[in-house]
Amino acid sequence: MKKIGIYIHIPFCVKKCDYCDFLSFQNTTASLKDRYMKALGGELDAYAAGSISAGGERIDIREYEADTVFFGGGTPSLIAPELLCRMMDHIRKCFQLSPDAEISLEANPGTLSLENLIQYRQAGFNRVSLGIQSFDDRMLHILGRIHTAADADVAFGQAREAGFSNINIDLMFGIPGQTMECWMDSLSHALALNPEHISFYSLKFEEGTPFHDMLEKGILREVDDSLDRSMYHKAVETMQGSGPAGYTPPYIHYEISNASRPGFDCRHNMKYWSMGEYLGLGLGAHSYMNRERFSNLCDIEAYISAESGRIAWRYRNTTDDEVSEFIFTGLRKIDGISLKDYMERFGEPIQKRFALEISELAARGLVEIDSGSLRLTLQGIDISNTVLARFV
Ligand code: SF4
Repeated sequence: MKKIGIYIHIPFCVKKCDYCDFLSFQNTTASLKDRYMKALGGELDAYAAGSISAGGERIDIREYEADTVFFGGGTPSLIAPELLCRMMDHIRKCFQLSPDAEISLEANPGTLSLENLIQYRQAGFNRVSLGIQSFDDRMLHILGRIHTAADADVAFGQAREAGFSNINIDLMFGIPGQTMECWMDSLSHALALNPEHISFYSLKFEEGTPFHDMLEKGILREVDDSLDRSMYHKAVETMQGSGPAGYTPPYIHYEISNASRPGFDCRHNMKYWSMGEYLGLGLGAHSYMNRERFSNLCDIEAYISAESGRIAWRYRNTTDDEVSEFIFTGLRKIDGISLKDYMERFGEPIQKRFALEISELAARGLVEIDSGSLRLTLQGIDISNTVLARFV
């Protein structure tokens, strides 16, 4: 049976963080959330009734088994647990779920309680991803987060108490004013909690965000690029256990911005980096099935009121698109791209198309071919966008 990942987008937050450009809204009413969840249910029913077409073909969703479900946002934990639990029941009715499916919930530490977490666990959620970002209250304030470091500690403890044995902590570095010491304190704090997974992202000043405006007006300053890179390298070194703290067993750095205990890589996100199929439901959610990418409407009222036809655009990948995306996403994985997988997928060795690019990048120490894989070196990761652009 073919495997698929299901993504559910919850576009609500208590308050927009000043750096965030995700599709989410603050200060929304209970009635809007209720109507949105009903519309999500309608979208699920439509897919269950067989109204999916992708890649120019009708697709029967009963031929798929969902081995991952990911509630992301936004802040899914802002939705009343009863509604989320009902949504999980609904998903079970519409899709065949693998018995060991990874079912993740993104949560903001400022929106959790032990009671809610117990309900999520009972509804089948088995992975929780905590958007903590920093354990320094000053940094949290700069980011415009609604929680404190103490709230994050409490949320983590409650998640454990509720029975979550797979917890991710999201951290951010390169925050204006952040020093190396401050960053390493946050990372050490996170490691001391012993989560199964850590995501660590460099702050980006995305256009259209208050942070971007403040940067333009000179109110905020980006951290120096060399400090940003040192923060990244130090984090990788520390999590792999070769740093001074020497944590055992070490985390496995498996994707540019992600590390996990062995066996705890995020299976849902690995689909994105391995060109696996996934179906996105909800506002602006993206899907990739049968070599076609499609995406939902981004206007919430239009999404809610649509009887059907919530898809805003579709694009059937050409073979060139498939090749570029396979490399572009695959090189994000630290193990890189298996040359054998590439050969099986595209019927020719990767060198046939990219001999020049690979040899030039390898000569500059940015990529390497080793043990049957093409991968970025640490130096290549530092300028990954430039390297990846060579394969588009
Ligand atoms: S909680 Fe997450 S999704 Fe919501 S505004 Fe902040 S960063 Fe964006």
